Amino acid sequence: MYIARILYPVKVLGPGNRIGIWFAGCHHKCKGCSNPELWKADEKYFVTIEQVEKLIRTVAVGHEIDGFTITGGDPVEQADELTNLLTRVADISQDVILYTGYQIKELTSETQIKLLDRISVLIDGEYKEELNDGTFLRGSSNQIIHILNDQYCDKYEKYIRGNHNEIQNFMINNEVISVGIHNKEFRF
Ligand code: SF4
Repeated sequence: MYIARILYPVKVLGPGNRIGIWFAGCHHKCKGCSNPELWKADEKYFVTIEQVEKLIRTVAVGHEIDGFTITGGDPVEQADELTNLLTRVADISQDVILYTGYQIKELTSETQIKLLDRISVLIDGEYKEELNDGTFLRGSSNQIIHILNDQYCDKYEKYIRGNHNEIQNFMINNEVISVGIHNKEFRF
């Protein structure tokens, strides 16, 4: 599978202290995308599922993991691998937010449906720069939050009502990785 980065604790893309996973590879090529370096599933991003699971388990030792936030890139383009990974780490958390440039109505293949079974909250739709208006948790207001697992309805309805977008910066190898929903002027 192709993964560009895994960060913890991500606090601005979902409730609590989350493991954020950025997939590499995306065919949407939205104008104004804040992660164009993740459009290509470059070989330098290749990791095995076992390596990713091991890293997640290492992070989970002694840390509170409130959920996973999966973004990219478009993680749905590696639906099979992602489903496998989420199945392996379900004992750590089953609270999974997934961002995709596809609309939920397009996710109809057997592989994609199996993936959706593992997702608590899906945020769908391509990024439209002209609709970037600070809508909570979404890059643009055309994107829709779908709570797919009833078990998480209360938690997410409260979270969505009571919050606003924030940015969190991680310093990694002398480079700043800026995480969160950025305004349209944001560029690395
Ligand atoms: S779907 Fe997301 S990662 Fe892909 S081009 Fe659009 S904004 Fe960028």
